Amino acid sequence: MSKRMTMMALLCVCSAALAGPVPVAPAATRFPLGAFTLVPLRDMLNVVPNDGSVFGKDQTTAAVASVLTAAGASSQDVRLGVDALLVEEPGRTVLIDTGLGPKVGGVLMQSLAQAGIAPAKITDILITHSHGDHVGGLVTATGALAFPNATIRMSAPEWAFMQKNAAQTALVSAIAPKVVTFAPGSPVVPGIDAVALAGHTPGHSGYRITSRGAQLTDIGDTAHSSIVSLAKPGWTVGYDTDAMQGSATREKELKSLAASHQRIFAPHFPYPGIGTIVARDGGYAFVPAPH
Ligand SMILES: [Zn+2]
Repeated sequence: MSKRMTMMALLCVCSAALAGPVPVAPAATRFPLGAFTLVPLRDMLNVVPNDGSVFGKDQTTAAVASVLTAAGASSQDVRLGVDALLVEEPGRTVLIDTGLGPKVGGVLMQSLAQAGIAPAKITDILITHSHGDHVGGLVTATGALAFPNATIRMSAPEWAFMQKNAAQTALVSAIAPKVVTFAPGSPVVPGIDAVALAGHTPGHSGYRITSRGAQLTDIGDTAHSSIVSLAKPGWTVGYDTDAMQGSATREKELKSLAASHQRIFAPHFPYPGIGTIVARDGGYAFVPAPH
């Protein structure tokens, strides 16, 4: 099947059922952070039905619907962006996560081209965790390394977790020569420290980016929905490997981010996913940064 036909098939399936990955237009919006430039890169949209399988697994779909409706969203589904974050700093070009990949219609490479960056220019790839919507873009549609000059960095427990996943055997052997691990919560590259956020996966990491006193944290999948995950951080999420630890980490991190007013990037919030977390009605809400 041609790439165009694959895209059309995906579009047809999604418009009929309105569930799963939906193709989007590429986007690359620049945000300054001290001496660095941050560029959220758009990859795809993921439409998750409100059927009790992912959000509020320990609740009723009516309870999830009422949270969505109160925020002015459709009660039928939860819409998640799928994005990555480019960090341009002196001497390095860093990419945090890589989207779903071209095999399933991700447009990260087109977004990167829109930012004016060639794949060979990426020096470091920082992986929050090994789920397909974060590591799928590490390889091309034919399975070759998509960023041939990049060192691929992830936490040691996450690499161990990924190597045990039989569904990722081919991807693991393609990237293995490029992988360098770090201890959870340690400095990773100049200006970027890992934040240990285990629960979503065993080695799930956020990344705190600091330049000239300005800071932003890429929270990875600590919160998926800018509506449900923030209003009800204690609710069980089907995507979390360890549901109890996942909600405990979410509640702790959101409390800290709301107190510090620090800017965040969230790969699954509405593009471009940069803003702040505020306390609201016993939970939290997302305030997008102007762009
Ligand atoms: Zn994800």
